[in-house]
Amino acid sequence: MSHVCILMQVEYKPGDQPPDGYLAWHEWAEVQRKAGIKQVQCGECGKWKTPQELSDASITSELIDRRGRFVVAMRQVCNKCFLDKEKVRPTK
Ligand SMILES: [Zn+2]
Repeated sequence: MSHVCILMQVEYKPGDQPPDGYLAWHEWAEVQRKAGIKQVQCGECGKWKTPQELSDASITSELIDRRGRFVVAMRQVCNKCFLDKEKVRPTK
């Protein structure tokens, strides 16, 4: 009787949703990076997200640029923040 350890190796593809788990996530992130997928900063939580993690929602915020002018910046919101918002403030 011998025990064999089988390491489950999941192959991630560019555009996949991120997996749970620290190591899996890093593997996934590496695949996305190699594929040249640019990450976008979520307008809500400020975390860097791949396009597939972003929701269709975006928030606008007023910023003041270096010349002291008001600029309206539109930033996308990630799926997680979008769902969190839905919970707090139902639209229907
Ligand atoms: Zn977010």
